[in-house]
Parts: sequence; structure tokens; C-alpha cells
Amino acid sequence: MVCVVRGYPKFRIPAAAARIHTNRKSLYSLCMAREKPSKDVIVIGGGAAGLTAGQYCARAGLSVLVVEELALGGQALNIEGIENYPGFPEPVSGFKFAEKLETQAKKFGAEFLYTSVQSLKKEENVFTVTTGKGVFTAWAVILATGAKHRLLCIPGEKELTGRGVSYCAACDGPFFKNRKILVVGGGDAACDEAMFLSKLTDKLIVIHRRGRFRAQKALADRVLKNPRIEVRFNTVLEEIRGRANEKGIEKVAAGVLRRTDTGERREEEIDAVFVFTGSVPQTRLAPDISKDEGGCIITDAQMRTSLPGLFCAGDVRSTPFRQLVVAAGEGAVAAHAAARYIDEVLDTVYSSA
Ligand SMILES: Cc1cc2nc3c(=O)[nH]c(=O)nc-3n(C[C@H](O)[C@H](O)[C@H](O)COP(=O)(O)OP(=O)(O)OC[C@H]3O[C@@H](n4cnc5c(N)ncnc54)[C@H](O)[C@@H]3O)c2cc1C
Repeated sequence: MVCVVRGYPKFRIPAAAARIHTNRKSLYSLCMAREKPSKDVIVIGGGAAGLTAGQYCARAGLSVLVVEELALGGQALNIEGIENYPGFPEPVSGFKFAEKLETQAKKFGAEFLYTSVQSLKKEENVFTVTTGKGVFTAWAVILATGAKHRLLCIPGEKELTGRGVSYCAACDGPFFKNRKILVVGGGDAACDEAMFLSKLTDKLIVIHRRGRFRAQKALADRVLKNPRIEVRFNTVLEEIRGRANEKGIEKVAAGVLRRTDTGERREEEIDAVFVFTGSVPQTRLAPDISKDEGGCIITDAQMRTSLPGLFCAGDVRSTPFRQLVVAAGEGAVAAHAAARYIDEVLDTVYSSA
């Protein structure tokens, strides 16, 4: 059991030690005998996972610093209208959603630092986090650095992302009901997402650069047998072209397709392009941690990685479903597990004092 030293709320020591050091001054010296990290927890990444972890840590009474290198909200900032987050029956913009998560985390006392984390190191029980704005230490770290979708890197892709170019069928598919959709990719994700999209439209074309799918056979067969899906192998997308709609907003209008076997090139009218050519988890800070074959960090159900004290949540984790609600849930679990871990570390540190 851990006691809080009256007058020194940030110091918590094991009950056994508190019984020996009965006066407050002696308790204080005991706490100071060990160098205390600058924060209890440092959260790296301010997307849905990191902001939720920050909120839960702060609400549990831990001192927590959330470090974000671009903008709070992460990938959610790309979403025009989030329709599937529980509790928001009307679509909410990714920007508004991120703002709410940030406000809530700040309300409970989470602190924020806007810079990039450059490296992460653990020595004895303490993590050292080097950022563009200084070096910080913590008992525990929650890695919530997300994942970036692998891009096609073709003309029009960047400009039309969020305007018909998407990387998430569950998120954006419903905007293209009964419209003509092009899916790019041939792995599990592409086949899975194509099956989902085929419920929304029968004008669905799946293209893959090779002569057969890379996906599991059962999944690939399902796509090949689906009468609502037209599969074109040996085909790549070379360019996405847009056209301004009645409001003057540029939206996807066509794609330039090329056959890799014959070299034939042609423009085809389409309303949306869904790209599923893999994603790149942002794991640079944890090179020696256990990962799955896709490079995502493996954790147990409590979000514990193979390094004690390092927790992981959201899209950077090996997770079956990359969604905001999942990332937020994992952030909450990671914060809870980090708090329990810190209690255990403090027990060890101070009982050996
Ligand atoms: C276009 C699009 C539409 C989507 N639509 C939906 C939808 O409608 N509904 C839904 O539920 N999900 C949707 N998703 C999926 C959802 O956005 C993700 O699952 C979710 O954002 C993952 O959250 P995260 O916190 O794990 O990671 P991210 O949102 O990727 O956040 C990670 C953060 O970490 C920061 N970071 C990375 N490295 C560092 C570093 N070294 N130092 C400091 N900061 C760092 C990044 O800048 C980023 O802000 C969509 C995704 C996309 C791309």
C-alpha cells in the first residue's frame, strides 16, 4: 500500500516506510533521497490515444506531459465529419473532436508540449525523453505516435485527400453510397475494405498491380466472387484528377489507369479512390520493442510492451481495428496500467531507501 505525505501530495511512499518515518520532515527527506523524475508519465503523441491517455493519467492524480509534434488531434484532423464516434449522433469535424479531447485533458491537469520527441531511453526505473524543447524524465511512457498510411505518391493524391481520396472505408465509405469507387490494393485490408464498400455501391472497381491478390485466399475468393465488385489485375493508378463542384470545391472526378502488362493507359470517371496499400506505424522511438510482421508494437491486454514501464496505444499498436474509439479506449487502458505500474515502482524504490 502507498501513502501520500501530507503537505507533499506529489510524494507517495509505501505504507511500511511511512510507519517508520513518522514525522513529516523525515518522510520528506526519505522521498528526496531518490531523484524524482520530472513527470510521472510522458505521453508521446497527441492523437485520440494520446489525448485520452493524458486525460486519464491526470484524472488519476498523476503528473503527465503530452508531447505532440504537429497538431493535437493527429489523423482525426483529416476527417471532415466523424459519424461513428459513440455519443456524437451528429457528424462532428475532426478539428472540433480534437478540441474537445484537448479541453477535457487540460481540465484535469494534463500539460502539453508542442515539439517532436527525438529519442527515448530507460535507465534503471526512469525514462529519459529527449525533445526539441529539452529533456524530461518519467517513471512511465505511453507511446501513442499513430501510423501513417502508405501513400501512392501520385499526382492529385495529396490535393484531393478528404475530397474523394480516402484511406478508411468505415470512415468515408458512407459518403459515397451508390457512387463509383476505385479501390487500390491487393492485401487483406484492400479485400476487407472492398467487401465493406460493396454493401454501399455496386459500382466498385478493385485494382491491383500484380496478377493475383496478396490477401488470404478466403478473403480474396470472396472479393472475386462478389458480383458487385469488378477486379482488374495488373493495373495501377497513375494520377487522380479533380473537378470543381457547384460550390467551387475540387473533388475527385477521374483516375488515370495503366495496365502493367500491355502498357495501355486510359482515363476513367470515378467519384472516390480508397487506397489500401499498407500503413506505416510510427515506431522510430522504440526500435528494440517486440513488433508484429507489419511492424506494429505488440502489447498485452493492458497495453504493456516488452519493456516494463513503456505502454503503447492506438494505431501504432498491433491492433485489429484502427478507429478513434479503439485508440481512445486503448489510451484509457494504458493510463490505468501506467498508474498501477508506477505504484509498484514506487514501492520498490522507497522500500529499498
Ligand atoms: C482520412 C481518415 C479518415 C478517418 N476517419 C475515421 C472515422 O470516421 N472514424 C474513426 O473512428 N476513425 C477514422 N480514421 C482512423 C482514426 O483517425 C485513427 O484510428 C486514429 O486517429 C488513431 O489515433 P492515434 O492517437 O492512435 O494516432 P494518430 O491520430 O496518428 O496520432 C498520433 C500523433 O502522434 C504524433 N507524433 C508522432 N510521432 C511523434 C513524435 N516523435 N513526437 C511527438 N509527436 C509525435 C503525430 O503528430 C500525431 O498527432 C480515419 C483516418 C483517416 C486517415
